[in-house]
Amino acid sequence: MPGRSLKRRCSIDGKRLFALIVGRYPLVDLSVMYKTQDLHVVENRPLLSPNQILEQLPLSETAAALVAQTRDRIRNIMHNEDRRLLVIVGPCSVHDVEAAYEYAQQLVQLRERFADQLEIVMRVYFEKPRTSIGWKGLINDPHLDGSYDINEGLRLARKLLLDLAEMGLPAATELLDPITPQYIADVISWTAIGARTTESQTHREMASGLSMPIGFKNNTNGSFQAAANAMLAASNPHHFLGINQEGHASIVSTTGNADGHLVLRGGKGGPNYEVAHVEEAAAALAKQNLNPRVMVDCSHANANKEHSRQVAVASNISEQILAGSQHLLGVMIESHLVAGNQPIPEQLSDLVYGQSITDACVNVETTAGMLEQLAAAVRQTVGAEVARA
Ligand code: PEP
Ligand code: MN
Repeated sequence: MPGRSLKRRCSIDGKRLFALIVGRYPLVDLSVMYKTQDLHVVENRPLLSPNQILEQLPLSETAAALVAQTRDRIRNIMHNEDRRLLVIVGPCSVHDVEAAYEYAQQLVQLRERFADQLEIVMRVYFEKPRTSIGWKGLINDPHLDGSYDINEGLRLARKLLLDLAEMGLPAATELLDPITPQYIADVISWTAIGARTTESQTHREMASGLSMPIGFKNNTNGSFQAAANAMLAASNPHHFLGINQEGHASIVSTTGNADGHLVLRGGKGGPNYEVAHVEEAAAALAKQNLNPRVMVDCSHANANKEHSRQVAVASNISEQILAGSQHLLGVMIESHLVAGNQPIPEQLSDLVYGQSITDACVNVETTAGMLEQLAAAVRQTVGAEVARA
């Protein structure tokens, strides 16, 4: 942009240009070197390498077994070989690891109670894509105070995932920054690529190298075609830029990840969880030789951002299962210790413990009721099929 270059030069050499204009110096050296890089970068801080963090917080045998076995069970559910329902449930975002741990202690009991019907995996989201601006998650700003202690954010995230795995609770997350997986992906059983990034080539490349099943959200307009394209793109090999375990910039080559599926989360035109939407998406996916089984996100645009509407969405999914739908592989629920959400207060000590600071959530009691209803639908359907066989 010529105007911008002139402005920049003026600001660097403003005094001399001013002097030229007022005629105090007849000759001005115009051959000054323009600064063209890092004009908006104020700081570059060292990032710990993945290996440095993994050495401090290694993957335990228990965690490795839980992750590998959960991923296998999810793949079986994706292909309808395991007739249970996958449930990704937990806070919209983790901002307080203690509250997340306390939530997990309650969720693990529900996981055990409904194990015959539901594969319950906790939403443990550390990276938040924002529509415009806002807090971007525990990894980006773990102290919620604009100090952006990302090294500590990565450590806290990994430690929580390992603690949950030791408890027997598998974790799901959204991966946003393509460098993050090297630090935490070995403890993740399911990943989302969000509505805002499903169309991004960077995220499709990243997904092609990830080791777990991946749900691609329909975009914020409500179209699922971008997610279908993402499933196809991510199932193919790619070569792109990333980092290795030492933290060195690398050219990464991948095999492609065939374990992608669609997540219906609603969009600008309203919700898309009802039977007609599910059937339409399944038919379009099948036509493109993609997995026709989908997950329904009970929250976000499917709940019109009203947390309590998630109950009605889950109920509708239970009815579709009871009616014999073969296209539903799972649901997502935003849930925390305390219902609703809160803005980040001026004084962090005013934060309500256990309540979301991003999207509003249902509480544990409501969640248990939703899970009960979903489990009953699976129990009845599979039971009826066995009886018929
Ligand atoms: C989320 O899961 O909290 C989220 C941001 O989802 P989406 O990408 O569907 O908006
Ligand atoms: Mn959310």
